[in-house]
Amino acid sequence: MRRKVWYNNISEIFFTSYDIRKEHPAMQWTSVNDLREKFLSFFESKGHLRLPSFSLIPQDDKSLLLINAGMAPMKKYFTGEVEPPRHRVCTCQKCIRTPDLERVGHTARHGTYFEMLGNFSFGDYFKKEAIPWAWEFLTVTLEIPPEKLFPSVYTEDDEAFDLWNKVIGVPAERITRLGKEDNFWEHGTGPCGPCSEIYFDRGEKYGCGKPDCRPGCDCDRYMEIWNNVFTQFSNDGKGNYTELEHKNIDTGMGLERLACVIQGVDSMFEVDTMRGILDRVVAISGREYGRDPSADISIRVVTDHTRSAVFMIADGVLPSNEGRGYVLRRIIRRACRHGKLLGIDRPFLSETVEAAIAESYRAYPELAEKRDYILKVVSVEEERFDATIDAGLEILGDMIAATQGGVLSGDDAFKLYDTYGFPVDLTRELAAEAGLQTDEARFAELMQEQRSRARAARGNVGGWESSAADLLSGIPATEFTGYGELETDARVLAVICDGELAGEVSGGTFTLVLDRTPFYGEGGGQVGDTGTISSPAGGGLRVSVTDTKKADGIHLHICTCEGGTLRVGDKVRASVDRARREAVMRNHSSLHLLQAALRQVLGKHVEQAGSYVDAERGRFDFTHFAALTKEELAAVEAAVNGAILSGLPVETVVTGIEEARGMGAIMLFGEKYGDTVRVVRMGGFSAEFCGGTHVTNTAKIGLFRIVGESSVASGVRRIESVTGTGVLDQLARREKLIAETAAELKVPNPSDIARKAQALQAELSAARREIESLNAELASTKLDSIMSGAVTVGCVRLATARLDGTAPDVARSLADRIKSSFPDAVAVLAVGDAGRLSFIAVAGADAVRAGAHAGRLVSAVAAVTGGRGGGRPDNAMAGGRDASLTDAALSSAAGTLAGMLKG
Ligand code: ATP
Ligand code: MG
Repeated sequence: MRRKVWYNNISEIFFTSYDIRKEHPAMQWTSVNDLREKFLSFFESKGHLRLPSFSLIPQDDKSLLLINAGMAPMKKYFTGEVEPPRHRVCTCQKCIRTPDLERVGHTARHGTYFEMLGNFSFGDYFKKEAIPWAWEFLTVTLEIPPEKLFPSVYTEDDEAFDLWNKVIGVPAERITRLGKEDNFWEHGTGPCGPCSEIYFDRGEKYGCGKPDCRPGCDCDRYMEIWNNVFTQFSNDGKGNYTELEHKNIDTGMGLERLACVIQGVDSMFEVDTMRGILDRVVAISGREYGRDPSADISIRVVTDHTRSAVFMIADGVLPSNEGRGYVLRRIIRRACRHGKLLGIDRPFLSETVEAAIAESYRAYPELAEKRDYILKVVSVEEERFDATIDAGLEILGDMIAATQGGVLSGDDAFKLYDTYGFPVDLTRELAAEAGLQTDEARFAELMQEQRSRARAARGNVGGWESSAADLLSGIPATEFTGYGELETDARVLAVICDGELAGEVSGGTFTLVLDRTPFYGEGGGQVGDTGTISSPAGGGLRVSVTDTKKADGIHLHICTCEGGTLRVGDKVRASVDRARREAVMRNHSSLHLLQAALRQVLGKHVEQAGSYVDAERGRFDFTHFAALTKEELAAVEAAVNGAILSGLPVETVVTGIEEARGMGAIMLFGEKYGDTVRVVRMGGFSAEFCGGTHVTNTAKIGLFRIVGESSVASGVRRIESVTGTGVLDQLARREKLIAETAAELKVPNPSDIARKAQALQAELSAARREIESLNAELASTKLDSIMSGAVTVGCVRLATARLDGTAPDVARSLADRIKSSFPDAVAVLAVGDAGRLSFIAVAGADAVRAGAHAGRLVSAVAAVTGGRGGGRPDNAMAGGRDASLTDAALSSAAGTLAGMLKG
């Protein structure tokens, strides 16, 4: 059982070379894969049925996020709830232990991922078989020298003691009796029992040197390799232990720990299947293993975490912010972070992942099959983390710099987490590196507040729910008739006005409870029903139901009274708005088909992460690592429509949870299910746990269209869709758009719009080209006429012209052409466009050389009209003011220019 072992001098322990094979030549080096095989075939020879490892994801166990022991997936065999395939079973089970996360790398023997070998008896054999078999396997099959092995037993378990002592012959002084916390397996009430561990003595070099050092000591000399649990009693919770009629055996031996001992290496990270990964980490980082104790810790962490990530992803876990997904995210992020600590400054996990797959795919072929997928998930997460880290590191750096008093505030840590997605364990680590503690209490408080806010946002039922629990006590659960009918006669059980029970109501809004109702109360992602309440006898009662909620099995109709009086005890007729409800059912049923189609097209890793349906559309969130391609979306849509067109009957079965599972029904992780569940089956296409309302045949969905695909969170995609009248509405909107477009384009036949649009485009480009060439033509004609009117001033030619109604950029290009074509020319152009007067002056190269200055010239000319401007010697502009003086201004140019010219 677990003890806290924390090594300070671990590197000393790791690198004290020690080779048991030298001391005990009988023990053969054996590979991890061969050890696994030897164990399983040994127990097969003892009548056990060999089962493959179960998935890391618990299949029917809400108490556990991830499988952490060989017995965990077989609990139901132990309790007798389910009949095992045989009463003797052996497995090699993949395990993840998050509680060991922070010990990884610091001890020689803790990984977050490891394989656990185990033999199990469900009411079959017991101690007197289990103990000798364990001994035989270790000392005969593996030839471990008996003097290296030390059993422990529970203090009061004389039976086990005698078996070790009298039957096996282990001297009494070599058998350690340990107390309840070490050697009694118990988990609340129910089956429990004593354990017997087997320790391997790794030699004095690994010991603490204390005179009373023995198995169970906190030091690393005696390594626990195998734990045998004898499930013998039942605990009634009051401390009474009664002998079980059918006693069980549950054993667990860490495969890597066993290999560590047999291969004579210093830690589990160096056994053959892990060494390849470790060496890759060493190669990528350029570090040498065994040199720097803190770098060695990081190397071991990356090695271990890579394996964990690979196996978790292969079993369908995707990084997220909750549950298993968060465990995976945390593990990948820690690996990245320790990579950085090793000085690796680029994405590297795909390389260590490749190494891990290469080491294990022979035993776990699914790793090879899912190789690309695993690489993709890890790389996406690594990139995402890099981006978060870069942003977060900067902010945290500032926070740390601004911190006084040695404690990083909980508000800072929370802000980083909440606003920037920066993991708090990293904040903690980095703060610690800077010598700061983190205010954990304040952080926890803020987290708690955030959780309550979230809960309040979810659970607010029309603002009255705070007192609802009290008000509703004593009212029986409502009988729901709405699976089969949409109109039901019922009796009023309670009326709640302004948060208080009322005897009657005759106006305003209120909440109504009936003994039975066809109104679906919002739940399972389906909106509540709307409709009316009237009196069956006719009469003036007019109540409209605007929404329906559900609390503890009681349907709460949110109502407005529009006429008449409603009294507790009255008989009423409750009628659901049929058209709306039918639309909701179409959308709900279509999401079941969608989920099945997604699993077909994208793979079994697709799991529902949330859903919502109302009358307008369906929204389905699911785990997947990338945006869907056009082709994938088309394939999904086609699969759903295929199932609709096949007209599959929709049946609902209420059955035991185990039977439902046997049907292969998809259930929602984290959802609470009672002993009996409702399974909705659509032909052979889909089976899901669901309490919602559905169409009776998939054909009634009509048609299905995806209208949106987006990302909601890392690894979670969202599809929005419409069905039936929703598709028709969408079609009608498109028709309208097409008709309007056709009218604008003046085509009588809408099928011609594309051709017409093309023709218009072509026409437009031709027209543009023509305008350009006409402009050019115009410019040269103007150029000719301007230059023909030029006068000679000294050695330069001066051309002046009024270009009324010419666009400024046309005038500009005209001026540029004069400048480049006539080096000896100076031109001053007056441009009058849209009531604005401006002047452009240019001077060719020879003219400039002769002393002409366009800037000064244009400034003098513009001044005549009251304007101003200037510029370079060869090119200048000015604004004019009084247009009536334009001619006078232009005439002044010759005199001004003459004054500029040299000689
Ligand atoms: P320890 O006290 O050393 O952490 P434990 O008491 O938690 O071990 P059990 O829960 O009895 O171990 O599990 C059975 C066997 O599984 C152990 O004897 C050991 O060989 C192996 N094991 C347990 N935890 C780990 C781990 N984190 N990494 C590798 N092997 C492990
Ligand atoms: Mg442990």
